[in-house]
Amino acid sequence: MKRRHLLKTLTVLPIAGSLIPSSFILNASPLNTTPVKTKPVDYFEELGVKRVINAAATMTFLSGSLMLPEVLEAINSTAHDFADMYELQDKVGVKIAEMLECEAAMVTSGAACALVLGTAAAITGMDAEKRKQIPNLPGPRPEVIMQKNHRYVFDQAITTTGAKIIEVENVPEMEAAINENTVMALFFNAAESWYGIEDSITHEQFIAISKKHSIPTFIDAAADVPPVENLFKYQKMGFDLVTFSGGKMIRGPQSSGLLFGKKALIDAAKLNYSPHEAPIGRPMKVNKEEIFGMYAALKAYLAKDHEEEWGMWLKRTQQISMVLEKVPGVKTAVYIPTGRANVFPTVDVFWDKEKSSLTADTIYNQLKNGTPSIVCSKTERNGDKIINIGVVLLKTEQVKIVAHRLKEILTGQ
Ligand SMILES: *Cc1c(COP(=O)(O)O)cnc(C)c1O
Repeated sequence: MKRRHLLKTLTVLPIAGSLIPSSFILNASPLNTTPVKTKPVDYFEELGVKRVINAAATMTFLSGSLMLPEVLEAINSTAHDFADMYELQDKVGVKIAEMLECEAAMVTSGAACALVLGTAAAITGMDAEKRKQIPNLPGPRPEVIMQKNHRYVFDQAITTTGAKIIEVENVPEMEAAINENTVMALFFNAAESWYGIEDSITHEQFIAISKKHSIPTFIDAAADVPPVENLFKYQKMGFDLVTFSGGKMIRGPQSSGLLFGKKALIDAAKLNYSPHEAPIGRPMKVNKEEIFGMYAALKAYLAKDHEEEWGMWLKRTQQISMVLEKVPGVKTAVYIPTGRANVFPTVDVFWDKEKSSLTADTIYNQLKNGTPSIVCSKTERNGDKIINIGVVLLKTEQVKIVAHRLKEILTGQ
């Protein structure tokens, strides 16, 4: 279509609009985003994908979390118009920074992406040439300091930038490790919870040493709400960068995350990210709806009555315990992790191993392979291999379903 012709059609349309049946306009516009009303499709069924009841935690392989209604609303209501992605990321960032009482913030495609971008920011600063060359900068590799007992699977996100991880085991080693190639120091907040160890350098020592040598500090607290206070704690302590997953207990899109802290670093992180064409973060882009969704999730999470929610979770553990303890030999206990990650009520389930041939594995598999499919956790308490039931990701009506299905298995039905 010639441009002149197109313009003519566009100017005519609003006038002609009232004369054309609406169905015609719908079909004529390839950009129409309003779903055509047809019978709802059950995509789980169409693809033969099992619906799973999540009686565990916000595990990535189980799709993380379920988005809050506010998030779905934000996604749906913003999907119908274009936005300038630079403006959106900037404006959402200003709001999130206000909400989290820090200098600056941005939405990333998960905490793992935030780890890449934060490290890239520490390496490149505002240097365009370095942005282009990363992860293959000339000269010695940039160095990121970590405690040896904090090393974890997600630190590959750090080395993705070309950086090398330098392990230290105590304060003097950390002091000695800092040199002209050091670009950042990374603290894995949940190391104690994951490994049952103690940090060999405390948060405060870690920050103090880094500050003394002007090295930016980054803390990965991806799964560390509740309590909600943790969203404020680490920037107040003095960490320059903080990340949380959006798709865990904050209940944003699974593919979203937060990176926040010092403005200079967030500015540099944005330059290493989409919508810029080529930087290291481009293959990890977050879309418009996810950005709006992350914002809506954080807003809803901060506004929520956390005490009431905690009370509801405890009530669920009681409901489940009452059903299970009717089975002879079965005992339950509320278990709340004492560490920094996944701190919420769960139910430990013990059964008489002298009288029963059931093992944690067989129970886990029976729950998982049954109908409906229920995924719980297997764990160990004082050498006893047991089943642990998470309640925070259950829908109200699923509490009973999980309790009765597990009772059935424990009774040997
Ligand atoms: C989940 C998790 C990540 C990765 O977060 P995503 O949002 O899935 O990218 C990183 N670090 C820790 C400690 C985590 O628990």
